[in-house]
Amino acid sequence: MSTQPTTDRPTGPARTATVLADGRELVYYDDVLGDSGYVHTTHDPRPLPDRFGPDGYAAGPRMRRDPLTGEWVPMATHRMNRTFLPPASACPLCPADPDAEYADGEIPDTAYDVAVFENRFPSLLAVPGEDESVQDDTVVGEGLWLDAPAAGRCEVICFSSDHDTSFAQLDTRRVRTIVDAWADRTEALAALETTQEVFAFENRGREIGVTLPHPHGQIYAYPYVTPRTEQLLTQATAYHRRTGRSLLRDVLDGELAHGRRVVLTSEHWVAYVPFAARWPVEVHLAPRRDVLDLPSLTDAERDDLARTYLRLLRGLDRFFVDPESDEPIPLPYIAGWSQAPAHDPRREHARLHLKLFSVLRAPGKLKYLAGSESGAGAWVSDTTPETVATRLQELLA
Ligand SMILES: [Zn+2]
Repeated sequence: MSTQPTTDRPTGPARTATVLADGRELVYYDDVLGDSGYVHTTHDPRPLPDRFGPDGYAAGPRMRRDPLTGEWVPMATHRMNRTFLPPASACPLCPADPDAEYADGEIPDTAYDVAVFENRFPSLLAVPGEDESVQDDTVVGEGLWLDAPAAGRCEVICFSSDHDTSFAQLDTRRVRTIVDAWADRTEALAALETTQEVFAFENRGREIGVTLPHPHGQIYAYPYVTPRTEQLLTQATAYHRRTGRSLLRDVLDGELAHGRRVVLTSEHWVAYVPFAARWPVEVHLAPRRDVLDLPSLTDAERDDLARTYLRLLRGLDRFFVDPESDEPIPLPYIAGWSQAPAHDPRREHARLHLKLFSVLRAPGKLKYLAGSESGAGAWVSDTTPETVATRLQELLA
């Protein structure tokens, strides 16, 4: 498929958009503005069929609504065949190498800074022309078995072309490019008719179930408001009705006034261990200004975020120390951006924040979600937020 690349440079990094051989979108974001940036090869030489064509592989995943919780559950059966922990020589996220035997990489160019593309094995996918209406398959009762296309989108964001680095090892300029890419994708995905919520996240470490060691994250556009955001909006709406105030504003002001759990502050950002943290390590990072989503951040807030987030991650990578080697243990973590939903009328009650947590509770020991957490959804913490905050305050001082 021949494509005409479109390159434009608004205020953020250089952006080059193209299309992969099977029709998926790919966007390069480069650190350097202007002519000193890369001129990207946009041709994907792989003989892949159009994913939506007669030989295409893209069956639209479906989702069902759990009548007991009201939550939607996408069912993406084709994900069982996806790549598992490949070496750098067969990594689909590494830049293309024309001399290599492996020729199924997702990045057509031999160099890039940040690249975003549609996941080849998506759990959410809008298929053009598909009937998006909700089907009711209920046989007894009413509205119990609702089924619909999981018509969203799953994107992969490569943070670096270096297979062996990690987010915490990037420089601030690169992190600023990533922040711009997150904001740009949020804007683009929120504009899709099917999108209700955009969630940008990173899973780091094998302990979290990462199948590709190459430093990357994901961006999901859900066709529904996620359960966590739904809960948060329910609480924030009720709090506003009762007090006339903003729940998330008051939470941040409360943490700042109290101070005991604040672990890092900068001109525009505050990191704290939340009052009722449930994971062995958990930190929230929030802007000082009321902001609904990543696209609303100013240049100064984005620059400061790049610096502050790196400081936080580097502190977290020293949180646990291997008792035998005395070396710090790179923290396995999940970090995800909570943003206002795209269209929900309650969106004004949301407030941008990053939630980062780890399943590691001690060197070599993972927290398993056992009976109480998995079975009853009832969390029991193995530590106190103040203990976690004390350790982080030492590391980030
Ligand atoms: Zn790689």
